[in-house]
Amino acid sequence: GMVGWGCGTGKIMDNWYYIPPEHIEGDRAYISDPNERRHLVRVLRNKPGDVIVFVDGDGWKYEGIIARSDPEVVEITVETRSRDEAEGGVEITLAPAILKGSRMDTVIEKATELGISFVIPMRTKHTVAGQGSVSAHRLDRWQRIAQSAMKQSHRARLPRVLPVLDFEILIEKLPEYDVAFLAWEDESQANLVSTAARYSDAKRLLLLIGPEGGFDRQEIERGRQAGIHTVSLGPRRLRSDTASIVALALLVSR
Ligand code: SAM
Repeated sequence: GMVGWGCGTGKIMDNWYYIPPEHIEGDRAYISDPNERRHLVRVLRNKPGDVIVFVDGDGWKYEGIIARSDPEVVEITVETRSRDEAEGGVEITLAPAILKGSRMDTVIEKATELGISFVIPMRTKHTVAGQGSVSAHRLDRWQRIAQSAMKQSHRARLPRVLPVLDFEILIEKLPEYDVAFLAWEDESQANLVSTAARYSDAKRLLLLIGPEGGFDRQEIERGRQAGIHTVSLGPRRLRSDTASIVALALLVSR
């Protein structure tokens, strides 16, 4: 057989593509992203007749056969279509305080691998990065990171990076969620695992992670009044990016 690399067994089938639903029509699909086309044709040297796997970002996974492959047009004949069952109907929204530099990239990549559905970059009192505005370019970049992490982790659902929200505004959106957790290093009564266990039926979960400077005491009080559960992630003071990843790992293990 083929020489395996990564976590899979075969080169072609390991490399998943993303084709948004508007480029899938009946049994025809077209790779619209020029970078993806170039990758398929020039790097992987896929030819007509080769089988490829692609996802639509809405939870469908497809297998198809390449009908035409040149850098301008890659056309695929759809062979099979199946629902990605791993998603299980639970939607986790991660609201991480905006971090400096590439730390936010890391959070979005790892959070995608861990199965989140939405990211809401959050502005809090002690958020240093993005205190002014977050550029469209940066939001775009985060969405693209989610896209490649989706393919890499073999998910069929694309996490959406939503517009930046202030802590106060996010609080007003709580009714959209079944339960909300806020990771707070000074919480001594409740940890995330035991608290989440009481909400095993919840389908829409919101998770708030503070910036390097932590949440302001006022924000903690405000959040609690609004019904958010403050939870500990253990005795160590984790960096903000680590806290996002740890909290999600604990949540998905339930
Ligand atoms: N307030 C602290 C300070 O400035 O010394 C630490 C903030 S911590 C570096 C960044 C964020 O990670 C926190 O706002 C919290 O959301 C989360 N976090 C880190 N360690 C945690 C823990 N042990 N339990 C719960 N949340 C934690």
